Amino acid sequence: MPFTELHIGIDDTDSPQEGCTTYVAALLIEELKQRGARFKDYPQLIRLNPNIPWKSRGNGAVCLRIMADARDLQHMLDAAIDLVKKLEAQPGSNPGIAVLKGSVPTPLEGFSKAALHEVLTINDARKVAIKNHVELLPDSERRGIIGALAAIGQTLLNTDYTYELLAYRIQEMRGKPRRVDPKSVVEMDKLTHPFTFNNIDYETGRILITPRGPDPVLFGIRGENPEILVKALSMLKVEEPIERWVIFRTNQGTDAHLAFPPKRIKQLKPYEAVTLEGVISKQPMVIPGGHVIASISDRTGEVDIAAYEPTGSFREVVKKLTPGDLVKVYGGVRPISTGKFTINLEKLVIVKVAELYVEKNPRCPRYGKRMKSEGKGKGFSCPKCKYRDPKAEKEKIPVQRELEEGKVYLPPPRAQRHLTKPLQRYGREKTRWTGPMIEKWYYPP
Ligand code: ATP
Repeated sequence: MPFTELHIGIDDTDSPQEGCTTYVAALLIEELKQRGARFKDYPQLIRLNPNIPWKSRGNGAVCLRIMADARDLQHMLDAAIDLVKKLEAQPGSNPGIAVLKGSVPTPLEGFSKAALHEVLTINDARKVAIKNHVELLPDSERRGIIGALAAIGQTLLNTDYTYELLAYRIQEMRGKPRRVDPKSVVEMDKLTHPFTFNNIDYETGRILITPRGPDPVLFGIRGENPEILVKALSMLKVEEPIERWVIFRTNQGTDAHLAFPPKRIKQLKPYEAVTLEGVISKQPMVIPGGHVIASISDRTGEVDIAAYEPTGSFREVVKKLTPGDLVKVYGGVRPISTGKFTINLEKLVIVKVAELYVEKNPRCPRYGKRMKSEGKGKGFSCPKCKYRDPKAEKEKIPVQRELEEGKVYLPPPRAQRHLTKPLQRYGREKTRWTGPMIEKWYYPP
C-alpha cells in the first residue's frame, strides 16, 4: 500500500487561562507515532500576524507533516479530532484542524503569507480550503481554521527558519512557579551563544526561556539547530519533572511578518504588520506612562509611531530622532480612534540622519570670546574689547548625531515579538531545509 503525505494544521486550542496549541501537538505526535506515522519534517510552530487582537498570547499555530499508510489515515485523523474535541470545553478556545493530503499547493502558501501580516476572516479560510481540497475538522465555523490552514501553507522549505525545544510540565505543577535554576540558564546561554537566542534579557536580568502564565510550557529554548537545543537542555538544572519535550521547526526569530514591501501611509489597515519608509515629521515626546511618540510622513500622509514603556532602552533611540531623519519603521498598526492609527514600533532602521545644527553667537576676532547680540539685525559686539560687527551672523555648529545610518535598532529581548529577528541572527539566516531530522527530537521516545 503506498504511503500518503498528510499535513495536519491545528490552532486555537487554548485560552489565556489554560492550554497551549504546541502541547496538543506534542500529545498528537505520540498518538500518530503509535499509529505508525513517519514524520517528514519536524513539527512546525508557525507564528502568524502578532497584532491580531483575539490571540491568546503569541499567535502560534502548529503543523504536523507525516507520511502514513493510506489505510491508517482515517485512524490518525480520528485521533486528532478526538484530542481537539476533548479540549473544546476550554472557555475562550476556538479550535480548528485543517488536513491536506498530498503536496502543498501554491495558493495555500499565498494564504499563509497573508496571515503573517494581514487580518483574515473565517470566510477567507473556508474559500481557500475548498479550492485547495483541504478538509476542515471538526467543522469550518471556528476561528482556529485560519491559523490551522496558514500553518499548513507555511512549509519553511525555502526560507529562513529556527528551532525551539519546548518542554512541558506535569499536571500537578501547572499554575505553580517554574523551577528552573536561573544560574544554569545563564551558564547555558554563555556556552551555546550565538547558536541559541533570547534565553535572557540582559538589560533586566530576566530569564526568558520560562513563560509566566499557567500554561503547560515549562520552558522553551530557541536556537539555530536541533543539536544545540538538545545540548542546551542537558545544561539546564531543572528542579521539577519534565512530562515531555518536542523540538519544533519554526519561523520565530526570522522577521517573516515584516518581509513585505513597504506600505504607503494612506494604505494602512488596522492590526496589520507593516514596514513604512518616510521622514520623521514631529519631534519625539514622552507622554505619561513613559511612552515615546513621534510621527513619520510620506507623500501620502502622516502617522504616529510609538515606542511603549515596556520597550525599555529602545525608547532612548526613538527619543534621539529628529524631524528630517529618513527612516524605515517596522511594527503593528494600532487603531486609536476612527481612522487614526499609531504604529507600535518593533524595529527601526535609520536610512539617513538629518543634519542638525545649534546656533551660537560669533566669536570676537580679537579675544575669541563669544560676542553679545546688539539686537535683532544689528550685529554683535564683544563685551570685553567693545569690538562691534553690525554684519556678523550667528554661527551654525553641526551637532554630532548619535544615531547610526544603516543600523538596525530593536527593543530588548524581553519586549521582542516571537517573530522578531534578534540582532545576533543577522548574517546567520538560512535559505533552505532539506533534512535529515535528528533521531531524538522528542521525549519520551
Ligand atoms: P498560543 O500562542 O498559546 O498558541 P495564540 O496567541 O496562538 O495562543 P490563539 O488562541 O491561537 O492564540 O488565537 C489566535 C486566533 O487568531 C486563532 O483563532 C487564529 O486562527 C486566528 N488568526 C491567526 N492569524 C490570523 C490572521 N492573520 N487573521 C485573522 N485571524 C488570525
